[in-house]
Amino acid sequence: MDTYVIATNNAHKLHEIRDILENDRRKFVSMKEAGIATDPEETGTTFEENALIKARAACKASGMPALADDSGLEVDALNGEPGIRSARYCQGSDQDRVDFLLKKMENVPDEQRGAQFVSAIACVYPDGTEFAIRGICRGVILRENHGEGGFGYDPVFFVPEKAKTFSQLTAEEKNEISHRGKALEAFAKKLETYLKK
Ligand code: IMP
Repeated sequence: MDTYVIATNNAHKLHEIRDILENDRRKFVSMKEAGIATDPEETGTTFEENALIKARAACKASGMPALADDSGLEVDALNGEPGIRSARYCQGSDQDRVDFLLKKMENVPDEQRGAQFVSAIACVYPDGTEFAIRGICRGVILRENHGEGGFGYDPVFFVPEKAKTFSQLTAEEKNEISHRGKALEAFAKKLETYLKK
């Protein structure tokens, strides 16, 4: 059984990552369960760089293989904003950030409200092996909240193929199509290849 530490304090992410990657050969523990606490400065300029920074720090602190995710929302009409700054777009709560985004997009017409969630998953092993992989989910930014579930920008991110926002999907439905779900699926395949070496 291989045990990996997941370098996140976000309970939603932990849950999504475990749901997709855990099996009878691989187990994933939180930083708390691994007895470490790291919070490195995310100085990278891409999602991949920031995921690698977090995974390296957790690997170094625990001596275990470490996995990290860095994700965010890129809005077409805002030239990719908030991007890697999604979690700190403005101070306050998730809803404050949603409101801030909607205000910025007030004058953006319906047909130009395209956006994508991006997730980069990085894995770092104690022997120095590293890899990072990305997943994307396209959608449209609505003008007000729809649904209660999820976190972050979920209530305003509408996915045409499901005719629902991320907030209106069950965790399982979201995993099937989400940026993180896709990155983790691709990552699981990569892991199989790596472990066969
Ligand atoms: P990170 O923790 O640095 O990866 O920041 C990710 C930020 O992007 C979160 O705090 C959310 O604001 C946003 N985000 C990433 N993934 C999702 C998602 O699945 N739903 C809603 N917001 C997300």
